[in-house]
Amino acid sequence: EKFKSGLQKTRQVLNTDVRDLFKAGAILDEEMLEEFEGRLIRSDMGVEAADEIVAELRKQHLGRTVDPQAIAETVNAKLRDLLSGEDRAEGGEEENADPLTRLNLNPDGPTVILVSGVNGVGKTTSIAKLAKLLTDAGQSVVLSAGDTFRAAAVEQLTMWAGRIGCEIVTGEANSDPASVAHRGAARAKELGADVLILDTAGRLQTQTNLMNELGKIRRVVGKQIDGAPHESLLVIDATTGQNGLSQAEKFSEAAGCTGIVLSKLDGSAKGGVVIPIRRRMSIPVKFVGLGEGLGDLAVFEPEKFVRALEI
Ligand code: GDP
Repeated sequence: EKFKSGLQKTRQVLNTDVRDLFKAGAILDEEMLEEFEGRLIRSDMGVEAADEIVAELRKQHLGRTVDPQAIAETVNAKLRDLLSGEDRAEGGEEENADPLTRLNLNPDGPTVILVSGVNGVGKTTSIAKLAKLLTDAGQSVVLSAGDTFRAAAVEQLTMWAGRIGCEIVTGEANSDPASVAHRGAARAKELGADVLILDTAGRLQTQTNLMNELGKIRRVVGKQIDGAPHESLLVIDATTGQNGLSQAEKFSEAAGCTGIVLSKLDGSAKGGVVIPIRRRMSIPVKFVGLGEGLGDLAVFEPEKFVRALEI
């Protein structure tokens, strides 16, 4: 249900387009297909995916009397195909809403999750939501407020931690994020916590700096906890669509990402961006943000996603 209301705008766009363009009884022609392709591209699914959908429509419906229901079915089937085809990203993609199945867990505990993303994408909120999701799944969580260059982010995260009832480790303003990560790891071990979530600085800077900073955090926690970080999640803002993608690719390299959190999928007409993310990046979308509240993070399930988009 959440998926459905979250993707309402994207669905509306697709829906209106199909009803608008393909009027029952008309003969389906190239002009209609071209117009539809333009609109698909505007939902940010990328030119390649839009091309594939239109090619399928051409194959099945060109020159025939329009049957809007049949057209919708062709589009839905192709969307499903695009999201779960052979080119899909690796990782446990079976449909399962249990967040623990989507994470590479450290059997010896704690599991360390590094979270990165550019300021404003929803990183702080996503960390809080993930902490809540994991707490609800019976995990004890420690947060490490490593975005030390933003006092407001630390305050915000502290407020969320209080609400969730989980431990948070903070550092001095402008202190080294790696030192906060170090203390976070020490605290998580001391408490015997199941999960440690590491916030990182989100300043948009040169890739070298970013790589150095994230590399340092990785080295520090890797020495304290075997195999850490076990997950490296990158937060991308769905409303920035294709623009977010190149940024994502940069971060992904620097942070050695293992998964994506796609935030702000609600209220965006650009939910189609999931498709190029899966096609272009070799890492899976693991979670999606569907609102501003603590409970608004869901495990990404491709099949549910397509059903929510169904026209
Ligand atoms: P950060 O700068 O990356 O840490 O971003 P924040 O977590 O502070 O979020 C920036 C803004 O986006 C805040 O107003 C959040 O409430 C909002 N936000 C974050 N995630 C979502 C989401 O999934 N949906 C919506 N609608 N808003 C979100």
